[in-house]
Amino acid sequence: MTKKRSPAPKQPAAIIGAGIAGIATAVRLALKGHAVTVFETQDTFGGKMHQFSLPGGYRFDAGPSLFTLPALVDELFRLAGREPQDHFRYQRLDPITQYFFADGTRLTAWADKEKFAREVEEKLGTPAADVLGFLRRSGRAYAATESTFLHKSLHKAGTYFSADVLKAVAALPGLGLTGTMHQRHASAFRDARLVQLFDRFATYNGSDPYQAPATLSLIPHLEHGIGAFYPEGGIYSIAQSLVGLAEELGVKFRYSEPVLEILTADKQVTGVRTEQDVYDFGLVVSNMDVVPTYRRLLPTQPAPERTLRQPRSSSALIFYWGVAREFAELGLHNIFFSEDYRQEFAAIFGQKTVSPDPTVYVNITSKLTSTDAPAGHENWFVMVNVPHNEGQDWDKLIQTTRRAVLDKVSRTLGVAVEPLLQAEHVWDPRGIEQRTSSFGGALYGSSSNNALAAFLRHPNFSGKLQGLYFCGGSVHPGGGIPLCLLSAKIVAELI
Ligand SMILES: Cc1cc2nc3c(=O)[nH]c(=O)nc-3n(C[C@H](O)[C@H](O)[C@H](O)COP(=O)(O)OP(=O)(O)OC[C@H]3O[C@@H](n4cnc5c(N)ncnc54)[C@H](O)[C@@H]3O)c2cc1C
Repeated sequence: MTKKRSPAPKQPAAIIGAGIAGIATAVRLALKGHAVTVFETQDTFGGKMHQFSLPGGYRFDAGPSLFTLPALVDELFRLAGREPQDHFRYQRLDPITQYFFADGTRLTAWADKEKFAREVEEKLGTPAADVLGFLRRSGRAYAATESTFLHKSLHKAGTYFSADVLKAVAALPGLGLTGTMHQRHASAFRDARLVQLFDRFATYNGSDPYQAPATLSLIPHLEHGIGAFYPEGGIYSIAQSLVGLAEELGVKFRYSEPVLEILTADKQVTGVRTEQDVYDFGLVVSNMDVVPTYRRLLPTQPAPERTLRQPRSSSALIFYWGVAREFAELGLHNIFFSEDYRQEFAAIFGQKTVSPDPTVYVNITSKLTSTDAPAGHENWFVMVNVPHNEGQDWDKLIQTTRRAVLDKVSRTLGVAVEPLLQAEHVWDPRGIEQRTSSFGGALYGSSSNNALAAFLRHPNFSGKLQGLYFCGGSVHPGGGIPLCLLSAKIVAELI
């Protein structure tokens, strides 16, 4: 009789950072049988996805506000044998966004494609059939490329020999995805406002529609094809519910304990060092931005300079305002467009400054979570896209931008907003960098401003050090909640 061999014990794993990707990786590795410890600099989890309150009863999600592909969160609960609904609930948004154009036109982006297309025909004069045709093509592009570019490592030869990839490559020429995103939109639509509306999707990963490749015009499919969602209680509940799951699975979180060094010997990671102690780990996953991971935690290791020098994505300047009034014409997501989009992006990515007439995004969670503001009041998260931090005079830029934002929003709504402000907090690229270690405070790691960007992002593993992996917005497949969740999936599969 042959003796049954018990499986080799799994290596204990350290995760550096409790951002959404770090938390998701912790869940996946715990499910694979690893003993997982998450080290986090801050005294709480979430990274960019944290929450805070302002005096007067206002709660804010500090970072992300738009949520797509909720199935990626559900998947983690299902993998753990839990019913997602018992832990994490969300609703599909309809309408999704209220658009305010510089010429005074207002447009509602309805979740229902036909209804949205009819709205575009009525307000902008573009035939509904053109909009539906464009969205269909965007859906086809998404279906052809999703599995290859988002769900797998682009840095393993095996990826290139799968049936999915051959299918994706064969489909590309027929999808009309050459040139830039803006060129694609400008050739699909004559109305400059509609082009601006679709160009805006470049900002979903911090890019410039005038440089980003046309492949990014599949992003509208996420919102208009699959849907935009709102988690019960706000975006923070994504991190909160997944940390709950991780803890149930035995993951240990060590808050207020930044990792100072990744320890190595003979081209293999051996552990991490913090101020408190030295810990042995055969597996280390960094959820810290890849640039400071190399510069600060691995100072004596050769760094992949070309990858680390890729241009950064945009950052953000956010005003969090407690507003003593309700605005019936506003919804959860609201966009007040600039007059000259090309000039706005040239300011951000060319001159590395803030446009004097920026597009303003206003997110108001109290529209759906009434406890986020006192009755009759609203919690405004007011965001402007700005360059990443390169030592600009942010104090001055905050002052001028605040004035421009107040003027634009007040003019559009026909109400002086400044006298309604009861509470205020500002987060700028310096603060984002300081709080999360994101290089330059970039929201999405490196930008997607060239056709090869997807391939130039850092892989999810180290080619030099055994046992070292990377997850989060600064590595493949990129920034934003869904892609961060996918990076966790890729890391778990690679391990
Ligand atoms: C203002 C703003 C708006 C955004 N809007 C959206 C949106 O609408 N939709 C969307 O999908 N995405 C949005 N994003 C992007 C999204 O928030 C990020 O892509 C995502 O949350 C990044 O997650 P992450 O796992 O990479 O880690 P991060 O959130 O960057 O967290 C990294 C964590 O690692 C910790 N850490 C760093 N170094 C160390 C160390 N040495 N030791 C221990 N811990 C360490 C940090 O403290 C931090 O908690 C937005 C981001 C911001 C800031």
